Amino acid sequence: MTFSPSHDFALQLDAQDKLASFKEAFVISDPSLVYFDGNSLGMMPKAAQDASRQIVDEQWGRDLIRGWNKGWWDAPSRVGDKIGQLIGSAKDQTLVGDTVSVNLFKLATSALTLQPNKTRIITDTFNFPSDLYILQGIKNLLSEGQRNAQHEVIRIGSNDNDLTPDLAALEAAIDENTALVTLSHVVFKSGYMYDMRRITDLAHKKGALVLWDLSHSVGSVPVHLDDCNADFAIGCTYKYLNGGPGAPAFLYVNKAIQEKLSSPIWGWWGQKNPFDFDLEYTPAPGAQRFLVGTQPMISLLTMEAALEPTIQAGMDSLREKSILMTDYASFLTESWLVPFGFSLGSPVDSAIRGSHISIRHVEGYRINRALIEEMNVIPDFRAPDNLRLGFAPLYLSFADVWEGFERIRRVMEEKRYENYPKQKLVVT
Ligand SMILES: *Cc1c(COP(=O)(O)O)cnc(C)c1O
Repeated sequence: MTFSPSHDFALQLDAQDKLASFKEAFVISDPSLVYFDGNSLGMMPKAAQDASRQIVDEQWGRDLIRGWNKGWWDAPSRVGDKIGQLIGSAKDQTLVGDTVSVNLFKLATSALTLQPNKTRIITDTFNFPSDLYILQGIKNLLSEGQRNAQHEVIRIGSNDNDLTPDLAALEAAIDENTALVTLSHVVFKSGYMYDMRRITDLAHKKGALVLWDLSHSVGSVPVHLDDCNADFAIGCTYKYLNGGPGAPAFLYVNKAIQEKLSSPIWGWWGQKNPFDFDLEYTPAPGAQRFLVGTQPMISLLTMEAALEPTIQAGMDSLREKSILMTDYASFLTESWLVPFGFSLGSPVDSAIRGSHISIRHVEGYRINRALIEEMNVIPDFRAPDNLRLGFAPLYLSFADVWEGFERIRRVMEEKRYENYPKQKLVVT
């Protein structure tokens, strides 16, 4: 498509947008706000707002402990199956609970202990830092512990200016001693998207298991875990799934390996018959063994309601709009912002890009502050120089995108960022 920078053109794109009406499914408390951070914290669906009131007033307030037999106990697997539809997982492989970091700990540890003779974990420097910390912690635990295996975490390097990983280096690093390859499917800074099938096949050929972090993919790009024969996945529900701050994460374990695995955390929710109160642990069948303890039910059930618009819209339509929107945003970056010293920090080819883009500028941090504090635009900043713009196709219009870029342009023209200190706030 040939884009134009005119406002009329943005309105034309909106007129052709089949998903335009989904904006009405969200609480828009400030119509002039341009929200480019749905990849960090999604907006609130009306269905979730309504559900949260019902959950508090009726389920907690009235049902009290009877709620456990009225849908609370089964919620991790029921909601897991709903998310499963969005990531190409057949039933009984996806469960909701805990955080992404904790789920990574459980699944990666279990993958390593399944293969005691292999010591390598392969990841890359594009991965989310918490994922890298968890892997370092696992290495520390297993290497220092009684097993005394010398585990190593290999990070395929790339420097700050790289947008795409070194696939040849990744391929070369996966060897017969590799127990696990774990990557972010869509990486958090540049939005680069891995070819899940290709990397999974590559790792399997060398006998390694594969774990995908879907935090920036679920709800923004179609994922086909079963089809790609992925072993494990984890992901976030408060980003593109709009589940609300701190909503519990999910995990996926392929049916083919479920019965071979042992969780490193044996809790009563992962026990075969929790209400027998047996004094010895026996793992629950299937992926259920990766649950640990009581889940944050108010948050989990609110998130369940929040899935409605995503499921209704369907991943293929969402992806189609997201590609058009990120292409359009890349075009506006080139037309309006490159002259002010910005460069595009994301792949130009939409086939290897998720639903957010980074635009880079040495003054990125101060520009971000000026946008939030004076212009009512919310992007976020990721060091060293990435202004990150998320495009949630459910509730952003093309006119919103146009307006957001127009305001960024104004900040540059008027050098408004110069009013802010270089000293960073805690949350960027
Ligand atoms: C957001 C995000 C997380 C979040 O982890 P939590 O433990 O749930 O806070 C993890 N990994 C990636 C890739 C993310 O983008």
